[in-house]
Amino acid sequence: MMRIFFHRSKCIGCNACVETDKSRWRVSRKDGKCNLVGATEKKGIYRADVEDDESESLLKASKTCPVKIIKFEKLN
Ligand code: SF4
Repeated sequence: MMRIFFHRSKCIGCNACVETDKSRWRVSRKDGKCNLVGATEKKGIYRADVEDDESESLLKASKTCPVKIIKFEKLN
């Protein structure tokens, strides 16, 4: 399992993460920032626990994000 942390307020809506996994990342039509599908929010930071089979696309999203707001940690 992995836990993703996403600092949504700093998102510039560039769409790069969406290209890595359209089922997990979606740019909002309301404010142009990305949403992390399945995440819960606490103090402005969105987080989601995901299975290892998603780890490759998450690493790619994290590396691709130009403002480096996608972080993660290994849970087991
Ligand atoms: S890659 Fe980063 S800045 Fe671009 S839409 Fe995704 S989270 Fe936002």
